[in-house]
Amino acid sequence: MTRPKVDGDAFRAKAEHLLKQRGRHKLPVDPFAIADEEGILVKAKPDTAGGVSGMLIKSGDDFGILYATHIPSWGFQRFSVAHELAHYFLEGHPEALFAGDGTHVSRAGFATRDRHELEADFYASGLLMPDGPFRAAMRRVGDGLEAIEELAALCETSLTATAIRFAQSVGEPAAVIVSTGQRVDYAFLSDAMREFAGVTWPRKGDNLPEDSLTARFNADPGGVEARRRDAAETGLRVWFETRRPVDATEEVVGLGEYGRTLTVITTETSPDDEDEDEEMEERWTPRFSRRR
Ligand SMILES: [Zn+2]
Repeated sequence: MTRPKVDGDAFRAKAEHLLKQRGRHKLPVDPFAIADEEGILVKAKPDTAGGVSGMLIKSGDDFGILYATHIPSWGFQRFSVAHELAHYFLEGHPEALFAGDGTHVSRAGFATRDRHELEADFYASGLLMPDGPFRAAMRRVGDGLEAIEELAALCETSLTATAIRFAQSVGEPAAVIVSTGQRVDYAFLSDAMREFAGVTWPRKGDNLPEDSLTARFNADPGGVEARRRDAAETGLRVWFETRRPVDATEEVVGLGEYGRTLTVITTETSPDDEDEDEEMEERWTPRFSRRR
């Protein structure tokens, strides 16, 4: 199944517009307060099934939000509430999700390829990490993983949601990859990184490159669970098909109980530094083996 085409920028912009209207256009954004303004009752739901992030309940003109707490991450819980708010605010969502009254069960966090879920994820991302304040904060923080951690603290968002937003906004080449074991869950590349990467980069279900730090790091599940971290100098060609070798840094951090790892790849080299009239080097063969 291919990812439906959703204009992420447009949905983030809708959320940012709402924040401006309500005088909430600054970090951190409080999604609970926005729900409160709308008269939406918000409650924690500790016993949700795995993968479920939250629910939006409609009863006549009344709405309620339940958010999952089986993931003990404040950032994830805030994102879950913001995702349900998206279904409430976005035009067409209540009509599409509810035939009359009922409950919509969400799987937030760019985990599904359902159009309404994706739209709500982009909206939630824009609500908690609005473009203006997020870019202003980005200019004040460090590089790579450290920058993402500082932004996550400022926005009160999860490391993964912040990393995705970072890759979508940063002007420099950066790639963010989330993996489980030796498989890629997803990867987001900044525009500048895409210029290097050409057409090949890791996709969901691909194997991690064998000679990457991430592959070695994930070989020890204990390190992932203990939220250990590591960094190594590498080359972009370990991960991507680039025209020429480019030095890069690979940083990894274990995300804890889900067995997931966050990888951040950055380089000091700018894609503009690449010599354009250079004869094409021998094409490098992508190392990702397809599972399907
Ligand atoms: Zn949803």
